[in-house]
Amino acid sequence: MKEHIDTIPLWESFREDCECPLCRLHSRNEANYREYFMGASVMEPDVRVETNKKGFCARHYNQMFRMSNRLGLALSTHTYLKDVMDRVAADASARAAQPRKGGLFARKQADPEGQADAIASTCILCERLNTAMDRYIETVFVVWKKESEFRRLISQGKGFCIPHYTRLLREAPSRLSGSDLSTFTSDVINAEKKALERIEKELEWFTLKFDYRNADKPWGTSEDAVERTLNKLRMLSVPFKEDEPENRKQ
Ligand SMILES: [Zn+2]
Ligand SMILES: [Zn+2]
Repeated sequence: MKEHIDTIPLWESFREDCECPLCRLHSRNEANYREYFMGASVMEPDVRVETNKKGFCARHYNQMFRMSNRLGLALSTHTYLKDVMDRVAADASARAAQPRKGGLFARKQADPEGQADAIASTCILCERLNTAMDRYIETVFVVWKKESEFRRLISQGKGFCIPHYTRLLREAPSRLSGSDLSTFTSDVINAEKKALERIEKELEWFTLKFDYRNADKPWGTSEDAVERTLNKLRMLSVPFKEDEPENRKQ
């Protein structure tokens, strides 16, 4: 493997009983990064410089706000805020220096590298997490090629959430070829179809349980069908409880 990363977390999440092993991996990594940026990274000057430049997105500020280290969050946000103020000021002077002309050309000149937009949208945690997930997804294909047990976990598994399912199918042609590609594709599609049929029945039974005639019948596996369906459709709509900031030991 060219860029070796530890494959244990990959195996662990694929062995877990959940609707999408890649969401499991994403969620666990996200929680780890959150703790890293709120804790250990404070000691590392490089990371501090980058955090001060980029800040976090709304999702990650929300999660960090729910962690217990409010002072740490305030300190890091204060430094980032000052950086934002500097850039707002620099952007304002650049705009003031421009001739007052309308049209696309004038707008481009006022913000040559889109710096004003960048201060509204950067997140160092998203960047790190996306890079880690890119590598894990690359590793899925490498391990699938080498390990029959991993192939079995996929073909007999519960499928993936729709975003991860479509991503795997989209990337497969650049990672696999020939019979490997066709086997991978059909294994993933078959597992997904089966999973969607199963979850459709579970969700239907959830709705039917509200009919008084079914009140005494058992829930079966349908009690949490709503959250599992939301996660199947849209990746981590309802978070894994154990990864929520309030539930992690810090
Ligand atoms: Zn997923
Ligand atoms: Zn983010």
